[in-house]
Amino acid sequence: MNRIYLDNAATTPVRREVFEAMVPYLTDKYGNPSSIHSYGREARADLNRAREQVAAAIGAAPEEIIFTAGGSEADNLAIKGTALAMYGEKSHIITSAVEHHAVLHSVESLKRLGFSVTILPVDSEGMVDPEDVKRAITPETCLISIMYANNEVGTIQPIEEISRIAREAGVLFHTDAVQAVGHMPVDVKSLGVDMLSLSGHKFYGPKGVGALYARRGVRLAPLIDGGAQERKRRAGTENMAGIVGIGMAIELAVSEMDEVSAKEERLRDKLIEGLTQRIPDVRLNGHRRLRLPNNVNMSFLYVEGESLLLNLDMEGIAASSGSACTSGSLAPSHVLMAMGIPHEVAHGSVRMTLGRYTEDADVERVLDVMPRIVEKLRAMSPIYVKTECGIKEFCANAHGCDVAEKR
Ligand SMILES: *Cc1c(COP(=O)(O)O)cnc(C)c1O
Repeated sequence: MNRIYLDNAATTPVRREVFEAMVPYLTDKYGNPSSIHSYGREARADLNRAREQVAAAIGAAPEEIIFTAGGSEADNLAIKGTALAMYGEKSHIITSAVEHHAVLHSVESLKRLGFSVTILPVDSEGMVDPEDVKRAITPETCLISIMYANNEVGTIQPIEEISRIAREAGVLFHTDAVQAVGHMPVDVKSLGVDMLSLSGHKFYGPKGVGALYARRGVRLAPLIDGGAQERKRRAGTENMAGIVGIGMAIELAVSEMDEVSAKEERLRDKLIEGLTQRIPDVRLNGHRRLRLPNNVNMSFLYVEGESLLLNLDMEGIAASSGSACTSGSLAPSHVLMAMGIPHEVAHGSVRMTLGRYTEDADVERVLDVMPRIVEKLRAMSPIYVKTECGIKEFCANAHGCDVAEKR
């Protein structure tokens, strides 16, 4: 069976060209960039080139790029690194309820060191209100961290507006742009951010390598102490294969972005509209317009998202419920909860994230398969029959029901 991968927000495959560019660093080109001999100097030159590629892709200067072991580490470094650099000076951090756990759990761990944290709410589409950010700032505030685009529902936050508020208040602003970089234009200067996280495996690069952009002058305490690598902000011999891979992957992603995102957007809308037309009682989660080009997150009422996923998987279709990190647990997604989506609706949510390899035929296959699966699961669901008046006959016999009338 031809499998269909619709979980590109969880991870993407490494592009062939990227893999081929990485191989020499796992074989012949094994020099340590800190060595002074020719092996070391060659590695240093290649490291510099990758740093320039990443910097150029987001409008930064090469010395503003710190390579890390992924998006989670970049988030940890931004948050703990700035908080610890200001330890004893300022002690308040502002973030939002829909952040990735790399951010939420980082601020949580700082609470144990005495930092206070404000977690801002979002509206029903997952949007942070910049006015809430403004109101939350106190003279103690050292950092604001609000993500660029949400990994579960795809909502894009008003980052320029929030960064302007932060700048006017003299507070550092970090954004987790892991879902945005490589998928939509990102320019650190026009966004006005002080720090920005990105991760290789979300744009067809390797896993275990990411970067933090930290504007010149931002004080950061290192999380990994040791040698002087990464301008003393991240010790350890560099992951050369990974770094060369992320450099190439980001350059390719940016150069092809217009074309790929236009295609993704078209397929995304085809999927959303097709499912809405073919299946009753579905709703789109997240913002309709201010949304990642590749994100579809829908709730199928009266159905368990997990059951839907298992049935899709049996048909060779890989999707996700909420984020990859929460699947396996039955707790509803913290993002959907923060958006005020009722438990029952959140439990029926499925995320399908498209990618550069998604084709019309894949979307058509989902549109063909999904109505049958949903119908089957609903027929088996006691909630559907008893409490939600889902079946016309039942409703007609029992009492008037607008769900039935709507059909
Ligand atoms: C994937 C992701 C991360 C974590 O990145 P890793 O490289 O997997 O550690 C952080 N934030 C967001 C929004 C993500 O989507």
